[in-house]
Amino acid sequence: MKNLPNFTHSLTQLIASASISSTQASWDQGNLAVIQLLATWFEQLGFSIEIQAVPATRKKYNLLAKLGSGEGGLLLAGHSDTVPFDENRWQSDPFKVVDKDNKFYGLGTCDMKGFFAFILQACKGLSAKQLKKPLYILATADEETTMAGARFFTQNQQIKPDVAIIGEPTNLVPVIMHKGHMSHRITIQGQSGHSSKPSLGVNAIEIMYQVISQLMQLKEKLAHNYSNQAFDVKEPTLNLGAIHGGDNANRICGHCELDIDMRALPGMTDSELIQLLSEALKPLAEKYPHRVSFNELDPSSPSFEQNQSSGLVTIAEEISGHSCCAVNYATEAPFIQQLGCQTIVLGPGSIDQAHQPNEFLAHSEIDKTEVILTKMIQRYCL
Ligand SMILES: [Zn+2]
Repeated sequence: MKNLPNFTHSLTQLIASASISSTQASWDQGNLAVIQLLATWFEQLGFSIEIQAVPATRKKYNLLAKLGSGEGGLLLAGHSDTVPFDENRWQSDPFKVVDKDNKFYGLGTCDMKGFFAFILQACKGLSAKQLKKPLYILATADEETTMAGARFFTQNQQIKPDVAIIGEPTNLVPVIMHKGHMSHRITIQGQSGHSSKPSLGVNAIEIMYQVISQLMQLKEKLAHNYSNQAFDVKEPTLNLGAIHGGDNANRICGHCELDIDMRALPGMTDSELIQLLSEALKPLAEKYPHRVSFNELDPSSPSFEQNQSSGLVTIAEEISGHSCCAVNYATEAPFIQQLGCQTIVLGPGSIDQAHQPNEFLAHSEIDKTEVILTKMIQRYCL
């Protein structure tokens, strides 16, 4: 155990091990270096280590570390990847931790490789013999893009902890709810032709115009029929994000695509929302046979809700000193919850710093986070 780095040292090494996820191949990196660091450190602490290759990714891995044995226990989970960065807007090297103004700057300090540096410190001095129930550490791959790591882990994993804490930056406030997220592309296949003879073609933009009208009605329907007071934006949202179609003013537009994003409230299933979309497009699909279709752009991620009256929420509120809340961003929580454990999102740092240039983790988070993690381990494993 003598070789284990202190907090700053482990944070420095985690940040130096670049692990960017991106749907653009030019940005996308593997995460093996981060996984190997964690494996080495947790092994030194007596954990057993399992590294899983995540299928359908560009050489990405999940790590599961386990201390102790038996049923139940505590899972501390997080993602090992970061988003890409905008070099021109960073004032320092994103891969070098800069300790300045009582903050640690670096890509992934707050979202969320820093969380693993905290866990490491909280586990120092723990031994398997002390534990009545197991302590699990999970580091996942590709959270920032497809959530492939968490999906794969949930589908395949045999563990069933009593509770799970995902250390995304929440300012150490327990988060028990967020919306889901899905994106679709609506495609109109028209028939191109010379603009002087409209009857010889089928104008895809004109059909898309009608599609958009239907979508605006769906948007109103969602706002009218569904609401959850826990959220700033109380209704499920539908956003028209990007549109492409046609090539020339004097040609009948033969093809048009619209990309939309929908965010389900907790309690709404993905299929419910897709059904509503399908119903909205149905009249046009009937009016223009074989010309209107839609398909999923990225794998959807479900909404998340942990019952407010569950024991974990009560304990997290007590230990953190904060009441639980809902947030607007999506996490791996709905997948982790499928393991059958009570699940919350609770971690150091602010989401305002995540995905931003000059991302940082404030020194003021250190003691508070160590206390919370230590108390959670005591409560659920000792
Ligand atoms: Zn994150």
